[in-house]
Amino acid sequence: MNEIRNVIIIGSGPAGYTAALYAARANLHPLLIAGSLDPTTSRIKGGQLMYTSDIENFPAGIQPPDLSDYPSEEETQAAIENVHGLSGPDLMKRMELQARHFGAEMLEEFVESVDICANPGKTYRVKTVDGKEHETRAIIIATGASSKRLGIAAEEKFFGQGGGVSTCATCDGANFSRAKATVAVIGGGDSAMEEASYLSRLDGIPKVYLVHRREEFRASKVMLKRAQENPKIEFLLHSTVEDLKGKPHPQGETIRFFKDKEVLAAAVLKDTRTGETRDLEIDGLFIAIGHTPNSELFKGQLKMDEAGYLEHDGRMRAIPSMTCASAEMRSLEHVPGIFVAGDVSDHIYRQAITAAGMGCQAAIEAERYLAETMVAEAGLDADAVSLSDETIAQSHWSSERESGEKPVIERIMEAEECVAAEK
Ligand SMILES: Cc1cc2nc3c(=O)[nH]c(=O)nc-3n(C[C@H](O)[C@H](O)[C@H](O)COP(=O)(O)OP(=O)(O)OC[C@H]3O[C@@H](n4cnc5c(N)ncnc54)[C@H](O)[C@@H]3O)c2cc1C
Repeated sequence: MNEIRNVIIIGSGPAGYTAALYAARANLHPLLIAGSLDPTTSRIKGGQLMYTSDIENFPAGIQPPDLSDYPSEEETQAAIENVHGLSGPDLMKRMELQARHFGAEMLEEFVESVDICANPGKTYRVKTVDGKEHETRAIIIATGASSKRLGIAAEEKFFGQGGGVSTCATCDGANFSRAKATVAVIGGGDSAMEEASYLSRLDGIPKVYLVHRREEFRASKVMLKRAQENPKIEFLLHSTVEDLKGKPHPQGETIRFFKDKEVLAAAVLKDTRTGETRDLEIDGLFIAIGHTPNSELFKGQLKMDEAGYLEHDGRMRAIPSMTCASAEMRSLEHVPGIFVAGDVSDHIYRQAITAAGMGCQAAIEAERYLAETMVAEAGLDADAVSLSDETIAQSHWSSERESGEKPVIERIMEAEECVAAEK
């Protein structure tokens, strides 16, 4: 273990990269521990978007056609028609470059353990799988979530990038609609009903099968009824997916990315009562059997809900777990220096833009925490170094930086130097 870091960010999805960008511009010299480089794990560097093709709803995350400075209305209309969303990997690469450009340091490693309970409010230890330990004053947890998978071997072959298997209808449905694909949704909860209903509304999709292993549903009555009454949705009950079959990729289709030159052709369904199997011809399979937040590192240390989503207060600060070994930690309302952002704490919105927004909030809160700690430790006059919400927020504006506004940490260091010079 060498230097003590100001802030370590765990996770390189939209939340982690945005936190790293803000922390770097605040001169906190953040270390971002990015996760694995292995594309077969569900925790790849870049996060969940690494498994998807076109992202159409990340504002400005598009490839617009070239436009003149003052385009006519006709040129603008033509450009609108030719806008393309970036691919998930492309968007994440851009986020990485932007964060690193401003000085975020990156480590392509996996965090194995984090010791939070031992020293609340002092320094924390983060251990990576290569056995190294990193000490830090603050941590931003942006470890995201992993969609639950079926656990069959063929699933990986077709997962993401136009192969035919997906875990997000809102994200990938449009691709299937353009390809006029017949799809199936697996699951019996509200999210399965929602995914099936959403897909049924897409013009290009002629048919949606809803595959469920039982006759009873976890879904709410109203959601279930809506799906049952939908003429485009056919329920296939007492069925599980045993295997998936592929066909050669049809060149020139609108699904632009594909793996192993094969796309999904059929799901092999097994009847749970008779054990019989049959092929269901489909082009797309949406797995809607739930998400798991990647929060197991923090079990017994930080408060989480029943499903494992980390809880935080209005300033993104983590809440201690009541099963934490340290009585001191249990007595705190929030854990000093530990912040939470993105899907690891969000089971409602689960979008790249909301995760990025939370990453920004967490980084600004980490900056405030570190600044307040520095001011207190140096015995500075807090009024002389304004840490108001307004000053901190504005110090991030590019226009303010251009006109000479300095990051808060820099202002505090200057104030410390002045005090030292006066002595
Ligand atoms: C198939 C699919 C398509 C999607 N399409 C869209 C879309 O079109 N538009 C949209 O807005 N949203 C989309 N989403 C949702 C979006 O991807 C998520 O909301 C977003 O990625 C959440 O960002 P995050 O930073 O919180 O977490 P994630 O993206 O999940 O990133 C988590 C990061 O943490 C890392 N990590 C986890 N554990 C560890 C550890 N122990 N050590 C180190 N690193 C660790 C992972 O490697 C990863 O880098 C899609 C999701 C899926 C699954």
